[in-house]
Amino acid sequence: MSNELKTIHEFDFTLICNYFKGLKRQGPGSPEVTQKALSFTNELSDNARIADIGCGTGGQTMALANYTKGQITGIDLFPDFIEIFNRNAIEAHCEDRVKGIVGSMDALPFQEEELDLIWSEGAIYNIGFERGMNEWNKFLKKNGFIAVTEASWFTPERPSEIDDFWMANYPEIDTIPRKIAQMEKAGYIPTAHFILPENCWTEHFYAPQFPVQEAFLKEYAGNEAAADLIAGQRHEENLYNKYKEYYGYVFYIGKKR
Ligand code: SAM
Repeated sequence: MSNELKTIHEFDFTLICNYFKGLKRQGPGSPEVTQKALSFTNELSDNARIADIGCGTGGQTMALANYTKGQITGIDLFPDFIEIFNRNAIEAHCEDRVKGIVGSMDALPFQEEELDLIWSEGAIYNIGFERGMNEWNKFLKKNGFIAVTEASWFTPERPSEIDDFWMANYPEIDTIPRKIAQMEKAGYIPTAHFILPENCWTEHFYAPQFPVQEAFLKEYAGNEAAADLIAGQRHEENLYNKYKEYYGYVFYIGKKR
């Protein structure tokens, strides 16, 4: 399909993909935090089945593979991310037990009670925390674990600039106790939760974007949508630096009842 025939939406979609596929991670996190979250789950055997939902290019999946046994299926909506994911698995010599597939988190290709562990870093927001927690529950075996990161408020109130930003972008952001209550209601025993340290945002997410932004702006010189995309990313980073004591990502870990 030529560019002329593409809708603005499709073009933006391709742009966003092209921007993020140049990064090791597409959301805040770090190998240390992945390992810490895993320490709150059961030890798994070689036969264990794990799903990493909204895996992106697999930054956290390869870390997960390092620290656990079992077969890992990474699922993402974007074929380009999955292509890179599978290349990364080969480079990490774990392609025999780590496989990326294209799919959507609202129509997962698993059997009921098939999975021992569901992982999802910075992605459940795409269908919403509550819906994801509820709908994914059936794929877990009894006593299986779920571990997800989710944007959360750290305080009951905050300045209107940051409140308005999140209400416009992800109104399901909420306080930690309310997220835990939603998890409990969806059929899990909340076993642990912790706030991701700042370096998950600054060192592992924003800093690597700087050179990618420079290269991207050169590649798409004169393209308004590309300039808007980068301006949006920089705005988000500035907001994070200004308001990080009010919000962040929280790892929520739970066991299916
Ligand atoms: N987990 C990765 C990480 O932490 O680096 C990626 C996080 S990124 C913020 C969110 C991911 O969710 C993207 O890779 C995006 O393509 C994926 N995504 C969005 N909607 C999806 C859907 N309906 N089903 C599966 N993946 C989806």
